[in-house]
Amino acid sequence: MSPRAIVRHAEWTLTEEIADGTPRPVFRVACLECGAQFEAVDNQPEPVELWALKHTGMNPAHRQFKVVTEWRWRVVPAPDNPRFVLEQAEESPGQ
Ligand SMILES: [Zn+2]
Repeated sequence: MSPRAIVRHAEWTLTEEIADGTPRPVFRVACLECGAQFEAVDNQPEPVELWALKHTGMNPAHRQFKVVTEWRWRVVPAPDNPRFVLEQAEESPGQ
């Protein structure tokens, strides 16, 4: 993922936030019939999908679910943006 946009004549890039401690995409699912919920934090949608399938297997009338995905992003200057060089210098002082 790296879509770019020109905002106030400077180019910016959208990236995934990868700073230490930042959770990877979080998938949550809730049954719309009974409100039962399941959450996985490991960047894998499969456990959430399996939970929904098993939930319907145990409760055949419960067939609608709400899935919410939380994904942290960061916008950074693109190489053509004047802030790119400034921020590179701030991250690597003395070079
Ligand atoms: Zn249910």
